[in-house]
Amino acid sequence: MRTIALMAERIIDLRSDTVTQPTSGMRQAMMEAPLGDDVWGDDPTVNELQEICASMFGKEDACFVPSGTMANQTAIRSQTQPGDEIIVHKESHIVHYEAGGAAALSGCSFALASGDRGLFTANDVRTLYRPDDDHFGKSKLISLENTHNRGGGSIWPLQQLVDVCETAHELGLRTHLDGARIWHAIIATDIDAKTWAKPFDSVSACFSKGLGCPAGSIVVGDKQTIYKVRRARKMFGGTMRQSGILAGAAIYAIKNHLERLKADHSHAKMLAKGLNTIDGITCNAENTQTNLVFFDIDKMLGDGVSLCRKLWENGVLAESLDLQKIRFVTHLNVTVTEIEKAIQITADVCKNASM
Ligand SMILES: *Cc1c(COP(=O)(O)O)cnc(C)c1O
Repeated sequence: MRTIALMAERIIDLRSDTVTQPTSGMRQAMMEAPLGDDVWGDDPTVNELQEICASMFGKEDACFVPSGTMANQTAIRSQTQPGDEIIVHKESHIVHYEAGGAAALSGCSFALASGDRGLFTANDVRTLYRPDDDHFGKSKLISLENTHNRGGGSIWPLQQLVDVCETAHELGLRTHLDGARIWHAIIATDIDAKTWAKPFDSVSACFSKGLGCPAGSIVVGDKQTIYKVRRARKMFGGTMRQSGILAGAAIYAIKNHLERLKADHSHAKMLAKGLNTIDGITCNAENTQTNLVFFDIDKMLGDGVSLCRKLWENGVLAESLDLQKIRFVTHLNVTVTEIEKAIQITADVCKNASM
């Protein structure tokens, strides 16, 4: 037991911003949140959170759900029919990390866009759109991710995002934003939630990542879409009862943990610059726009999995996302001192690995 405690003390956990512990202020807010049965619609804290989010994102309504995956999947279910096709970047979360949910739960196929850092263009939308023909799946929905996770925490240029959505609407498609980390885009650009959300029929956002909540995500959209999202949430088993205890954390996070994302962004830049000085590591600090730090490792350091294992043994937890690619994530439980330490440990580990 003692060794575990000692180890825990020196572990720097950069696997994800989902590993954050609720702060004491957040725990207090959770304790004090007035509660009701949300399935009956009478949890005042859930209702308050939904109102806050609807107004913040400039939409008519909002629905609180347990996870980001359920937020995306209920949004897909509420805007498609089986046999429909979703235009989405091939590196997006919906494609990689949702257990094939769009196919299993909504009967949808994907038309995959490609492009640097998770971005694509209005022209890609025109190319991937399928005209009305009995042979084809029916193009119905387009989904963008901002910030883009596997794109390296990249932020969409606003005009490009607007162009893509306008083109989609001209073609009669619905538009969804996977905004799991939209908070980071808001803070990094000073472009507000309303402006980022405006081109979209539905937007999902996570409280359980950079904002530091134990669980919970939101879907916002027009009344009719959210009515369908609410039905899908029930069908997928995502209704909760006294969930105000979680919504209380989310309200607290919106008020208290949003501005501090600036610190995570500057920590990420620091990490990127430090990592890039290490022999065998390539990390583009300029492309490190938010809190996700992706870097490539030379084969002389082994592959991502083996290097991560060595980092783990030395107290830095990280994820290998591709064969020669590793991701570090900054968040509210990582201090500047730990960032400096993580760079030093990585440098030492790499030095040994290349010998
Ligand atoms: C984490 C994440 C999700 C899903 O969140 P979960 O709460 O883990 O289900 C969706 N989209 C993106 C881009 C994410 O990074």
